[in-house]
Amino acid sequence: MPSELKPTTIQSLIASLHLALERLQSYTLPAHAHLAIQNCIQQAEGLSDALVEDIEKNRLAALYKVSQALGTTLDLDKVLTQVMDAAIELTGAERGFLILIGNEVSAGEPLDLDLSDDLELRTARSYLRETIKTVEVSKTVIRTVIETGEGVVTNDAQTDPRFTGSDSVFFYALRSVICAPLKARGSVIGVLYIDNRVHKSRFTEADLGLLNAFAGQAAIAIDNARLYTNTDKALSDRVAELETLTEIDRELNECLDYDRILDTTMHWMLKGTGGKKSWIALYNPDGRSLRLVSNTKETNPQLLPDNSLYKEIEESIKGQAPCIIPAGTRPECILAPLYFSGKPAGALGVEWSDWEPGNFSEDAVKFSGRLASRAANAIENACLYLAVQEANQEKSKFVSVVTHELRLPMTYIKGYADLMRAGAVGPVNEQQVSFLNIIRNNVERMSVLVSDLSDISRLETGRLQLKLSLFGLNGQVDEVVTSLRPRFEEKHQVLEINGLVGDLQVYADPSRVIQILSNLLSNACKYTPEEGKVSLNISSQGALVRLEVTDTGIGISQEDQEKLFSQFFRSDDPAVREQQGWGLGLNIARSLAEAMGGQMGVRSVLKEGSTFWFTLPKENPVS
Ligand code: ADP
Repeated sequence: MPSELKPTTIQSLIASLHLALERLQSYTLPAHAHLAIQNCIQQAEGLSDALVEDIEKNRLAALYKVSQALGTTLDLDKVLTQVMDAAIELTGAERGFLILIGNEVSAGEPLDLDLSDDLELRTARSYLRETIKTVEVSKTVIRTVIETGEGVVTNDAQTDPRFTGSDSVFFYALRSVICAPLKARGSVIGVLYIDNRVHKSRFTEADLGLLNAFAGQAAIAIDNARLYTNTDKALSDRVAELETLTEIDRELNECLDYDRILDTTMHWMLKGTGGKKSWIALYNPDGRSLRLVSNTKETNPQLLPDNSLYKEIEESIKGQAPCIIPAGTRPECILAPLYFSGKPAGALGVEWSDWEPGNFSEDAVKFSGRLASRAANAIENACLYLAVQEANQEKSKFVSVVTHELRLPMTYIKGYADLMRAGAVGPVNEQQVSFLNIIRNNVERMSVLVSDLSDISRLETGRLQLKLSLFGLNGQVDEVVTSLRPRFEEKHQVLEINGLVGDLQVYADPSRVIQILSNLLSNACKYTPEEGKVSLNISSQGALVRLEVTDTGIGISQEDQEKLFSQFFRSDDPAVREQQGWGLGLNIARSLAEAMGGQMGVRSVLKEGSTFWFTLPKENPVS
């Protein structure tokens, strides 16, 4: 808009006319001429008042429009452009700029401004409502406004004593400038700057007032947008962090493998901190020295395990928080203490690859602490699991030695007792026979136990050798039934065999199938009262053969069913306790079924009876 047409220009024209008319009145003129001049003066005054009112109305309307748009829009840049265009139009300016400061400053604070680094140009518009690229503004004016927090209006910047010596005023031939501060929550966050270089329009204090009003609205909108963005960012950062921590938890709790957990921990330590080498050191059992249990391949060899960081680890453990160890004899590193069940256990470390200081951020330190507490749990569990596994190995070794050593003496005891009972060393009376029978029965029991223990130790250490082959179940079922039938008859129990025994073949170890079937059928016999019924059902189930032993016995409570297949479990039921047994048969039977590619399970109702089942593959699964 050409400046000549701006309302303030018309206003000053009316003022000049008013002055001229007043001067005319001092001349001696005819009465009607005086009257006409008087009339003109009144009309000019009326016009001036109307114009002022109109200007005010326009300005208020523009301000209202802008504040409404600012309050409702999501597109801040669009509205800031609108603000700029309205300000240019209403003040008759040539160009307008909205400039933001990188870091907010409080009014009155001295400022060393650099337009390229400290200031960000948000909007630059021309009176043609076009975006302009060149930013030719007076840094001195902007600095003054930012430092004082007050707006500035000047109509001849070249000669204005406040800006003499300003290179930009001189170089850019700046003439009329208004600059208003953008203030939000007591701080100056930028400026609204408009100027005129070529047009001889004059900015007034009223123009500054208008620009101040626009600046106030724009500052609130920018501040709100920044707050929104910051809150939004903080929220999305937190969500991202929680997602990462969930992922870490999932990976750490996925297994109990000690080495894998250490690797996972170090992988996340590097990923989460941006470090280059990571390591984990744990206290030795003496609690005084540390050992390096894991490290990413390049860990500084001087670092550990020669305890060179021992003091720092102690300090971070005392402080119960991760800390940065500044670069010195080694690069900067973060130490995060590890606690096992609340007791100091060592530290998780990450270091930089060069000696530059200040590489690790506060966020990296916080992340290390969170990772360390999660990793500590997983490492502790893995250590316990490792210890249990080692103890189990030791136990299995011990059992295997003991069972081996017991076998020979038991054979001697049994053999000599049999010889004595047969009269090989002289006549034996009735009482001696009964004593020898007791010896024999107990040695029998012991040999069952020794054989069970030896099976368990072999199964646990993976030393059990199965002789797998394809065979029909007929022979095995016959053998078991024949050997157990006297015991069923003794208790007047019915033993039924149902199903396709003869037709079905399995791929398994025949002697182990006999062992499993014997265990289930003898249990059914033992735990079923006299005159009860036991049935063996054999059926085909896809690629498997299913064998089920059902009895009408004492049944098993829900609580006991949960412990059923564990070693040495025997129910407290007196009907169980009066029977001989070690509580190992089912544990071995299930492990054998699984080792042969099958499964074992139970259904039971207390006081009604039980069904134990197991499956075996029909064919060699690998062929
Ligand atoms: P054992 O029979 O030598 O005690 P097992 O391992 O074969 O050892 O069985 C473990 C326990 O399971 C038994 O002591 C008993 O409490 C329970 N049990 C096994 N089979 C049956 C069954 N058919 N009916 C009821 N209880 C059973």
